[in-house]
Amino acid sequence: MKRKLAVVGVGSAGLLSLIHFCTWLDDSWEIYSIHNPAKPILGIGESTNGGFVGLLERGTHFFLGNESDLDALDATLKFGSKFEGWRDNSWVNPLLDGNTAIHFNNFHFKDFVYERLEKLWPKQFRVIEGDVTNVSNRPDNVVVTIDGAEHTFDFLIDCMGFPTSYENYTMSDCTPVNRCQIHNVTDFQYEPYTDHIATKHGWMFGVPLKSRKTYGYMYNDSITSKEEVGEDMKQILGVDSLEDKEFVFKCYYTNNLVEGRVCKNGNKALFFEPLVANSIFVYIYAARLFYDYMMAGVCAEKTNAAFVKAVQEMEDVISYYYQGGSNHDSKFWKEATKKTKKRLDKRKEFKDMMAAYKTLKSKGVLHTAPAYGFSPITWEIVDEQMGYGYIS
Ligand SMILES: Cc1cc2nc3c(=O)[nH]c(=O)nc-3n(C[C@H](O)[C@H](O)[C@H](O)COP(=O)(O)OP(=O)(O)OC[C@H]3O[C@@H](n4cnc5c(N)ncnc54)[C@H](O)[C@@H]3O)c2cc1C
Repeated sequence: MKRKLAVVGVGSAGLLSLIHFCTWLDDSWEIYSIHNPAKPILGIGESTNGGFVGLLERGTHFFLGNESDLDALDATLKFGSKFEGWRDNSWVNPLLDGNTAIHFNNFHFKDFVYERLEKLWPKQFRVIEGDVTNVSNRPDNVVVTIDGAEHTFDFLIDCMGFPTSYENYTMSDCTPVNRCQIHNVTDFQYEPYTDHIATKHGWMFGVPLKSRKTYGYMYNDSITSKEEVGEDMKQILGVDSLEDKEFVFKCYYTNNLVEGRVCKNGNKALFFEPLVANSIFVYIYAARLFYDYMMAGVCAEKTNAAFVKAVQEMEDVISYYYQGGSNHDSKFWKEATKKTKKRLDKRKEFKDMMAAYKTLKSKGVLHTAPAYGFSPITWEIVDEQMGYGYIS
């Protein structure tokens, strides 16, 4: 009898977990994609890093050189994040990993992934549509209630979106922002980067797809009102009105990525603001950790510790950008600088790693150092652009 893995949810995290496990588990497994079509995906988060393309290449035969693959995902190429207004000169921040990524439309993602998985992994890929009302995590299996019927699996990945309670989660203080105003435009000049524009009240991302460009103005609603941000955003984009679309969020991560036979991924596992497109990068790592837990017998304690370590490195990456302020001398930036500097000052791991990078750089072998969130070479570039002097 075949062993069974269930992946619940078809947002970005559910789909990339499906791709990962269809690729790496052999034919003795069936991988079930379970979701309730009446419950929509969050539908934001379209900027990625190199590992995402690698995953798509292996699991779906997506090919960057194939224009029809890019068309299917409304995708454009991305070579990095373009930082503007943080310092006198703008610069392109390299990707968190790899050297080419994409911006993609996650409303197109499910159809693309389902079609490819059906074609490429017919012995493994299965679909169940319905509402999950209970997940029973038992010593020998996981029993899931879908539309009132019980289904049994060996393991399950919960990608059902935001947690309903934050018990056993850590609330993060890595960022000064908690809210985002969205606006889409169709008339824009494409560049192969995700914009990261420092603004008076925070920063604004710009994600170019083939059909549109999505801007998101990140700010803190206890410092700046929605109206003030709206005025600034309209002025920057040169528009008279904005869409009525926003996200209010808190940043957090689970202390227990895996528990028994269940793993969390996506917004169920963590949420950080989207600086340098960190989310999907971490979801891919979480899927790898779960594979090692399931197949290589790595224990829960080690798996959860590895996840928390990676997530805390990402928190440091986020705080790092804010701590030196931007070209804007505003209330937001004064508070952002103070808060993130104070946080980073307490992070021994971060300071030790920067000191290690400095030593290796002085010996001309920085590239041999381990990654910390992103690669040492990227740290060197950003350190120089921000003028921090941690490394050089
Ligand atoms: C403003 C903003 C910008 C962002 N930008 C980026 C970015 O550029 N790059 C990036 O990597 N990330 C970004 N993110 C993060 C992004 O939000 C996440 O990558 C994405 O939303 C992950 O969603 P998910 O797959 O966890 O869940 P969701 O998209 O919420 O999907 C949940 C799934 O679970 C299913 N479901 C839920 N409940 C049930 C149930 N009871 N039964 C059956 N099915 C169920 C739903 O049908 C759905 O398929 C951004 C976030 C914000 C707020």
